[in-house]
Amino acid sequence: MMFAVAIDGPAAAGKGTLSKRVAAHFGFAHLDTGLIYRATGARVLGGENPVDAAKTLRAEDLARDDLRTTEVAQAASKCAAIAEVRAALVAFQKDFAARDGGAVLDGRDIGTVICPQADVKLFVTASDEIRAERRFLELSGKGQEVTREGVLKDLRIRDQRDRDREAAPLAAAADADLIDTSDMDIDEAVAVAISTVGKVFRRR
Ligand code: C5P
Repeated sequence: MMFAVAIDGPAAAGKGTLSKRVAAHFGFAHLDTGLIYRATGARVLGGENPVDAAKTLRAEDLARDDLRTTEVAQAASKCAAIAEVRAALVAFQKDFAARDGGAVLDGRDIGTVICPQADVKLFVTASDEIRAERRFLELSGKGQEVTREGVLKDLRIRDQRDRDREAAPLAAAADADLIDTSDMDIDEAVAVAISTVGKVFRRR
């Protein structure tokens, strides 16, 4: 059985946690596509050419423990604006979406480019300030030296670059369900997402 759930949205909107929990609930596989771009960005920070890095990306690159920094996030977003980098990473994501047993993919262009035929499309947002606060707590909780202002600035720069690029910009698919998590805690957001996916899944 194939069943694809596409979850898109700007940085730190809660897509990651939401996607993991939706996948666990339905027994689907989960792919955090941001990690692919972060792994590419990390190799570029190490001196490689972005297109070569994307073309030779390996599973172990995704397992690096230094991908969750603002520096790597910015490098990822710069690489992600290069059409050839995106092209090198498309097949892997499309195959993942088509796997037997169901798949949840989260990112920026899943509902629009990677999986426009997804069974369910969600676009998850929250206000800039709330996203920045959540990301600040996450990064400072891991011991990273960050400030609220710095994190907010990083998110805004990245979102703008992601929205304005020509190649697969960050955008909600026309038929996506919008979930604004500004006034929700994660459990509420997960409940809304599970209910939306469940309505479609039960009909299959
Ligand atoms: O989701 P995350 O913040 O980890 O993504 C890092 C960067 O990777 C994003 O800012 C974006 O530029 C890029 N990305 C993308 N398309 C995706 C997922 C991530 O362009 N599907």
